[in-house]
Amino acid sequence: MVELLKERLKGLAAERIIQVITEEWGQKAVLSTSFGIEDQVLTHMVAQAGAKIDVFTLETGRLFPETYYVWNRTLEHYKIKIKTYYPQAALVEEMVTQKGPSSFYESVENRKECCYIRKIEPLRRAIKGYHIWITGIRAEQSPNRESMDFVEWDAGNQIIKIHPLFAWSLQEVEDYIKKHHIPYNPLHDKGYPSIGCQPCTRAIREGEDFRAGRWWWEDKSKKECGLHITQS
Ligand code: SF4
Repeated sequence: MVELLKERLKGLAAERIIQVITEEWGQKAVLSTSFGIEDQVLTHMVAQAGAKIDVFTLETGRLFPETYYVWNRTLEHYKIKIKTYYPQAALVEEMVTQKGPSSFYESVENRKECCYIRKIEPLRRAIKGYHIWITGIRAEQSPNRESMDFVEWDAGNQIIKIHPLFAWSLQEVEDYIKKHHIPYNPLHDKGYPSIGCQPCTRAIREGEDFRAGRWWWEDKSKKECGLHITQS
């Protein structure tokens, strides 16, 4: 199935990929968004294709005010619904009661626990029942991501992942945003190419890679929250 899909979509422009998925998989496909610049491009394409693909976001409870701003603007601009998944309150309450509100700075284990509770567990609920999960991953974002493919099987989550912008450069993404007047997170103009939870994201300095501002206190090799660690 993954190989067939790869053949079917190979060489198509990102808009066409979204159209094909809309026509052939419709309600069995879902787009995840954290309102980053790539996700905004894909939300635009999904809306242009008739908004038949569901869109969801993970509300971790630790987002930047600017993220809520672009979330609101996106709803107004496209008149779409964005399914929203919160972490389970009891899990957050227990973690914060036991370890305080900033335990993620203390150890990799604590950080992974927080990402599991606020992102991974809600993600599993968000993608349940879908066959295709569309993401804004680009190869250029990190060496980890470079080694992925634009269509892949995620055995851990039992779902096919498609990254329509996989081969796009940041410049191409920015040009598309400008050309189509797409709302975007103002933090992108302040040195934040990758935007996640507020306590775990900082601006990057010139010459640093795109994800250097995420969990900057950790070893480079551990810098994924687990959403996109695809097991094959
Ligand atoms: Fe928790 Fe930080 Fe992970 Fe967000 S990015 S879920 S605040 S550890």
